[in-house]
Amino acid sequence: MKIYYEDDIEMDVIADKKIAVIGYGSQGRAQARNMADSGLNVIVGVRSGGSSWNRAKEDGMNVMTIEDASREADIVHILIPDEIQATVYEQSIEPYLTEGNTISFSHGYNIHYGYIKAPEGVNVTMIAPKGPGAMVRRTYLEGFGIPGLVAVEVDATGDALEIALAMGKACGFARAGILETTFKEETETDLFGEQTVLCGGVTELIKTAFETLVEAGYQPELAYFETCHELKLIVDLIYEKGFTGMWKNVSNTAEFGGLTRRSRIITQNTKKEMEKILEEIQRGEFAKEWTLENKAGGPMLKRMRELEAELEIEKVGSKLRKLCGLQR
Ligand code: NDP
Ligand code: MG
Ligand code: MG
Repeated sequence: MKIYYEDDIEMDVIADKKIAVIGYGSQGRAQARNMADSGLNVIVGVRSGGSSWNRAKEDGMNVMTIEDASREADIVHILIPDEIQATVYEQSIEPYLTEGNTISFSHGYNIHYGYIKAPEGVNVTMIAPKGPGAMVRRTYLEGFGIPGLVAVEVDATGDALEIALAMGKACGFARAGILETTFKEETETDLFGEQTVLCGGVTELIKTAFETLVEAGYQPELAYFETCHELKLIVDLIYEKGFTGMWKNVSNTAEFGGLTRRSRIITQNTKKEMEKILEEIQRGEFAKEWTLENKAGGPMLKRMRELEAELEIEKVGSKLRKLCGLQR
């Protein structure tokens, strides 16, 4: 595994280049401000009249329409939601790209599945943080950074990797280390992780355990603390000390119970289903489904959001988090 740190990266390749950051949301705001504070020539490209426009102005950024920013810039770093990137790219970015330019991303989705195709002579790169935008900005201001990923899909100019790495260094990622990957690997592992563990798996696990306790007559508040609230403490231990460190910090009873019961919860069938989910990602079936959903105006997602908000665990959790001062 190749990891790049600050000393491995020269800033010369982009010192006199103009970088348009398209979008000023979670990632756009953090990365644009970090790159500007690192001394780079940054333009923020957003639609006029949107809330991002005013926000970027208030932050003192150089703000233009997406079209003007794309025309002005040598590097166009696309940080708007993945599902709208292809449309915005076609209408407002692609017409203004010229040979020797670079288009850059923080997620490989649209390039990997072919929704965005770069013109001849244009670099296609990725520089992505392994964390949300707020952390990208906060750690940068603290003098550190969060780890990043770098990848090159098309190297038209011969120095595409150096360009992407320099952008990552300016964002602070090289302080923690930038790992080299490919668009395929980043996209497929990212989707797999969020579907099976981070977002999908963990919520279903919590929900099912909560419902089991409540249906058996236990108080929902207690069920919430045991199956949801305490999860953060355990995950923090794993994050800092690994499985072994976590087991050392819980009671021997919890350790014995956990180790003897866990494979009855996540079974060989779960593993088989994970393999199926991975295949759907690899064959592009998930991407197709997500594209169709968006073409239809997002009806399934809308309905699932409503159902999620109606869950008992959400009502109990919201009440408890307020009582504990965790949520206002
Ligand atoms: P956001 O949802 O925060 O992006 C919001 C921005 O997109 C706003 O500036 C908004 O402008 C603009 N926007 C929304 N819709 C449109 C539209 N139809 N036309 C033009 N502009 C629009 O995105 P993220 O920062 O979450 O994600 C950006 C990229 O970074 C994605 O590729 C994502 O996968 C990747 N990424 C995200 C991470 C994260 O933690 N969020 C982590 C790692 C990678 P306006 O105010 O005008 O609506
Ligand atoms: Mg993702
Ligand atoms: Mg307990």
